[in-house]
Amino acid sequence: MVTLMTYAGAAAADAPGTRTGGVPLVPAGFEWPVCAECDGPMQFLAQVDLGGGLFSVFMCQNDPGMCDEWDATAGGNRAFVFGAGAVHAATPPGDGVTMLEEVCAVAFAPVDAGGYREATESWSRLTGRPAREVLGHTGTAAQWLQNDETPECGGCGRPMTFVVQLDEGHDHRTAINFGNGYGYGFRCEPCGEAAFLWQC
Ligand SMILES: [Zn+2]
Ligand SMILES: [Zn+2]
Repeated sequence: MVTLMTYAGAAAADAPGTRTGGVPLVPAGFEWPVCAECDGPMQFLAQVDLGGGLFSVFMCQNDPGMCDEWDATAGGNRAFVFGAGAVHAATPPGDGVTMLEEVCAVAFAPVDAGGYREATESWSRLTGRPAREVLGHTGTAAQWLQNDETPECGGCGRPMTFVVQLDEGHDHRTAINFGNGYGYGFRCEPCGEAAFLWQC
């Protein structure tokens, strides 16, 4: 079973729960992440409801392709696991590329399939909607385009647990930039660590 994330229309910039774009809901005292390569503020990509918390993903887009933003450890992207206190809409810094051009609500569609691509094709056939309206999937396993790059936790050194695979979006004009590939989010629950990378 693959739980697809599908495009569900426009959402408010500060809508609760799972969405792409807008501003992140964050805990008190949150500081907007800055790229380790260029020192610019990162772009907020998406937040995913963990059931009592949020998985939140940022990536540098100030100079696309130049900040190793695909890499889990280079500092060109950042992922967080926030607890139930993540209810404050963050204010983006005034400089840099910090927000996507569109805020998308997400619906969840369980599909009986062996993998993400198979599930996407099956959903598209059943609903008559374009495959591009599948925004990702959660919970089962990453479908890698290249080698398995499951990150190791920076805290305990163990392989991290898959949380979400993100597609670029339903509209190329407002899409996330993964070089036509996929983004992959992971967490280590005991350590509270999160990591993100992408492949194309
Ligand atoms: Zn950068
Ligand atoms: Zn750990």
